[in-house]
Parts: sequence; C-alpha cells; structure tokens
Amino acid sequence: MEAPLSASSLPPSPAGTVTRFAPSPTGDLHLGHAYSALFAAEQARRDGGTFLLRIEDIDITRCKPEHEAANLEDLRWLGLSWPEPVRRQSEHFGFYQTALDRLEEMGLLYRCFLSRRELNDALSAPHGAPPKAPVDTDMLLSDAERQRRLDSGKPFALRLRMARAIERVGPLTWADRHRGEHQARPEIFGDVVLARRDIPTSYHLAVTLDDALQGITLVTRGEDLLDATHIHRLLQALLALPTPDYLHHGLLRGEDGRRLAKREQSTAIRDLRAAGHSPGDVRAMVRAQNPD
Ligand code: GLU
Repeated sequence: MEAPLSASSLPPSPAGTVTRFAPSPTGDLHLGHAYSALFAAEQARRDGGTFLLRIEDIDITRCKPEHEAANLEDLRWLGLSWPEPVRRQSEHFGFYQTALDRLEEMGLLYRCFLSRRELNDALSAPHGAPPKAPVDTDMLLSDAERQRRLDSGKPFALRLRMARAIERVGPLTWADRHRGEHQARPEIFGDVVLARRDIPTSYHLAVTLDDALQGITLVTRGEDLLDATHIHRLLQALLALPTPDYLHHGLLRGEDGRRLAKREQSTAIRDLRAAGHSPGDVRAMVRAQNPD
C-alpha cells in the first residue's frame, strides 16, 4: 500500500514552472492533443521549468497499452521529451485509496447503489429545465434495500457529500492565468462520484492527487475542463494539498466548427504522419489555428 500524501511527501519547490500533459490512452492523439501538449511544454520551457507526461489510464476497460505506446510515439515524433519514468495512474490505485479512506474518516463519502436508469429517473427535470445535480442519492433507497444491494454485490458509486464538504472548508478561490480569479463552485456537480466499484478512483481524485504529488505548479488543459477545477480545488482543501496555478486553453476546432474528437481520424497525428507530413508541418497546423 502506498503512503498517503502529506506535506512532507511533496516534492521541494522546483526552480521553474512544472507542467504536465496527461492523455488518457483510449485512442489516437489528434491535432487538439498536439496543441495541448505543445502548450504545456512551452509554458515550462519559458522559465527553464519541467514538462512532465502522465498516463491517465484509470479506466482500464477503455485504455489500452497499444494506444499508450502509439500516443508516446506520436508525442516523441512531434519533438517532445520528458523525464522518465512516466507516471501511469493504473499502477497507483492504492495511493488514491488512501485519500478515499481519509475522506471516509471525515464522514464525507457514501455509497450510491442506484443504477444509471434509477439515477436518471430521480434527477430528470421537466422539459427545458437544467438537470438537477445528484444530491443525497442514498436517501432514495430504504436502508433495507441498500443493504440488500450491498449484500448481493451490486455495483455502486462512492459519492462525496458535497454540502458537508463545502461547509467543512468554507469559500474557496482558484486562479486562471488568462481568465483571472474564480470563486470555486463545486456544488454545480452535486454529490460528485469519486470512485466506483469497477474503477477505484475518479478522474477528479486521481488528477488532484497526482498534480500535488508530482509538484505541478501550473495545470494547463482545455477549457472544456474548466468546471472540473472547482472540484479539484475543493479536494485540495479537504486533503490539505497545495493549489497550483491554472491556465485553461482554447480548443482546436474542425472545419465544421466543432471541437476535434478522438473518433475523427482526419486530424490524427499518425495519419498526418503517414500522409507524409513532417513534425514541423504538424506544429505549423497547430500554430495556424492557435485558439488562445
Ligand atoms: N486525462 C485527461 C484527458 O485526456 C486530461 C486531464 C487533465 O489535463 O486534467 O482529457
């Protein structure tokens, strides 16, 4: 079992900015990933800092070693480099569990046994109204039914008691270098899921812990993840972790104006490479669309 994170186990403050690119190896990387990785590397390069690569493969049903190998090869081909060994989240489930244990001891977690359909039914909003955030979903089952599902090995999600968590730490802020200071609003997620029986940590928990453990001083990522930062800030406060700076960048778009997705092969780095483009060509394509 890995040791829990504490102030003394955090790395000493580094000389320059420490950034990371953290792909989930579920498919090929496309131009949007190239932009994000180059963006992170550039932020670190500016003051002689360090760019790290982290593999976010907690969903072991969707992440595949062959995708990881291809992703690393594409990034190296682009000219990026990083210190080895690379942290691979699937090798550290015990570490994330220590944080879940701490939150459990604080009385902040509960098991939600609702199936996807039961949850959707419970949260469905009248036409046009925004869907409700899940709150106190444990109250929707009787004690006896909850026990029956527990005994019969039904899958469950571990949810954070959001109201209690916010009450414990009080109002929080975080800063984005382009977008300024934000009041943390984790409540928009309701009782957010921090682990599932089949996936023993959530993205939110693993990324928050790893950014602290790896001494990341500037988290760069796409603006589609901006709201997630509200939860990460709350988890930092609950677990006494440092808060890095943030820089959420714009997203590259396809010709139809929609953001690029992994399933669209037209902009996959490997395909561009197979079509005879050089790393310099791909960097130029990314620069040409610079959304920031
Ligand atoms: N693994 C996440 C993704 O591929 C990135 C997480 C982050 O940068 O915080 O979208």
